[in-house]
Amino acid sequence: MVFKQLITGIAFGLAVMPAQAALSVFTCEPEWADLVRALVPDADIHIATNAQQDPHYIEARPSLISAMRRADIAVCTGASLEAGWLPALISRASNRDIQPGKPGLFFAAEQVSLHQPHDHLDRSMGDVHPEGDPHIHLDPARVPVIVDALADRIVTLVPSRENGIRLRQRQWHVRWKLETARWRQAAENLEGLSVAVQHSTFGYLLRWLGVEAPIDLEPKPGLPPSASNLSDVLADPALARIKLILIATYQGERPAQWLSSQTELPVEVLPGTVNDQAGTDSLAELISHIIGRLEHHQKAQEKAGGHG
Ligand SMILES: [Zn+2]
Repeated sequence: MVFKQLITGIAFGLAVMPAQAALSVFTCEPEWADLVRALVPDADIHIATNAQQDPHYIEARPSLISAMRRADIAVCTGASLEAGWLPALISRASNRDIQPGKPGLFFAAEQVSLHQPHDHLDRSMGDVHPEGDPHIHLDPARVPVIVDALADRIVTLVPSRENGIRLRQRQWHVRWKLETARWRQAAENLEGLSVAVQHSTFGYLLRWLGVEAPIDLEPKPGLPPSASNLSDVLADPALARIKLILIATYQGERPAQWLSSQTELPVEVLPGTVNDQAGTDSLAELISHIIGRLEHHQKAQEKAGGHG
């Protein structure tokens, strides 16, 4: 049958398959675009935020509204990460496929268990993440679960593409497994490493690596550290174990630099998500890059005679 169509197609100089419109995808953060691209390489993807932006706080700009209006599916983190802007965007775009409870709205955080569930937070306490910590995108163990759920969801929306999506899903898992084995090995070199952070951007990865993060410069998630918070940090006994201050590119460097000036601890500023730079433009590469930087600092400390 297929062969017959092929012959006919060639005979008439026509494409064998009917032209398929590219899948139009809206993603709230760049990390989900990376996964969509892996599954559907020809998808037309619009990404709402970049690594230079704090994903908790962006504006529902007109360009985002029109991108969501024409999208077939929106892929976001959920768990209140985008609580400050996504609901307004969904309502203004009024795309009937992209609505809460519809298959066209995919939340990564709903596919996995979350660390640190905490209830009864109100806005005065900082970002409200009552469902738990939503910053799951760098977790080597959780991302594969999200990929599978995302593949299932896209197949539901475009069943005609199932074969290609399933093939690329399997290929993705093979690559990720290889990377995970490498990361596991690198984690052994990081034994005893403790870092100070600002927000839980890297939290899931650090925990997976066994790297302790006993100090957070933010007094509450999402509240920028004040001078008095920082002097509390200086008095924190856990500071003695810290070897590195790790912050994300979108965060202001001043609190970290101040703490560094008081302690001589190095500051490492890393992309909190994939960007368009070689070496950090896919989730796997970004995770490798972050681990590489942690290893670098751990080795430097060992050389300097520091011991965890
Ligand atoms: Zn957050």
